Amino acid sequence: MTEIVMRNLGKDFGGFTALADMDLTIGSGEFVALLGPSGCGKSTTMNMIAGMLDPTHGEIRFDGRMMNGVPMAKRGVGFVFQNYAIFTHMTVRDNLAYGLRARGVAKPEIARRVGDIADLLQLTPLLDRKAARLSVNILQRLAIGRSAVVEPAIFLLDEPLSNVDAAFRAVMRSELKALQRQFRQTMVYVTHDQLEAMTMADRIAVMDHGKLLQVGTPLEVYNHPVDTFVARFIGAPGMNLLAGRVTSADTGLTVDLGAAGHCPIQAGQGGEVLFGFRPEEVHPDPKGPMEMTVTTVERIGARTILHLAAGSHAAKVVLDSETAVPDQGEAFRFSVSPGAVRLFDPQTERAL
Ligand code: ATP
Repeated sequence: MTEIVMRNLGKDFGGFTALADMDLTIGSGEFVALLGPSGCGKSTTMNMIAGMLDPTHGEIRFDGRMMNGVPMAKRGVGFVFQNYAIFTHMTVRDNLAYGLRARGVAKPEIARRVGDIADLLQLTPLLDRKAARLSVNILQRLAIGRSAVVEPAIFLLDEPLSNVDAAFRAVMRSELKALQRQFRQTMVYVTHDQLEAMTMADRIAVMDHGKLLQVGTPLEVYNHPVDTFVARFIGAPGMNLLAGRVTSADTGLTVDLGAAGHCPIQAGQGGEVLFGFRPEEVHPDPKGPMEMTVTTVERIGARTILHLAAGSHAAKVVLDSETAVPDQGEAFRFSVSPGAVRLFDPQTERAL
């Protein structure tokens, strides 16, 4: 277990800033996901932690030790990439044992550790198979096992599940979490998939355009996004954001949403706002203060997603599939609990 501290860490490629002034501490034994869209600087950050890339400025420390200039082989990191790196001519067992043999670990200890990791990753029945005969899914599971078995103090995973199929990805999410619980490694996980970050990470570092926007537990970033980017990026669908105006009346504070009606709120100052609410935080209510027209009804098993429009506003609502919903073209009346409302500054797009 090792604490990773990044201070004022940055990387430029020519005149282009891939990462600007990252300040992030990843606790010993913590699972942190670097989450953001393609090109936001996740892999650049990861490669600097690994020692594959030198920072342009700033520093990286492991347990207080300065890592700038220290080669990858001396950092004690395990790294799994999107594309598995497996010796296909070897068996699963030999692939798993490879790193331990290279480190001169005694044979009985190798057998024990290979057995344990194979059990954890459901590779035991395949131990004597040649890797060349395995599916892409299993190869990636093997690549994870091969890096994990040497029990690196820091385990770095860069989009390890992006090439595996959806059903397998769900299985691997829980296996990776179990792996980390067992070895208590410090784990840094790069992904553009908010679901992966939400389900596995202790904390999520949300990035965009080379900047770290917010760091928090999955619930913190879900419930209290610092800006509209995080609000939209977290959640599926992301947070709805409607342009409105806060007004004060005898009955209290309200956000006037024009064609979509209005919504009472708990606190706020008068003026223009972006009115945010999660698609899951909507209550169908025939007497509700908000009304929008249904443009599409998506039925996806246990949930129904309504696409709504009113004037220039668009929103999505997620309901239980048992809930009766209007048809396309009909009106949907609803309310949002004041406590579930998030307000953002329309100019800076920061949370108010
Ligand atoms: P992806 O998931 O697509 O890899 P990412 O968030 O990991 O996205 P990075 O790979 O860190 O993004 O890249 C950040 C930005 O830096 C991108 O715009 C990329 O084109 C640029 N970049 C990365 N490596 C280099 C390089 N060696 N030379 C020039 N530009 C680079």
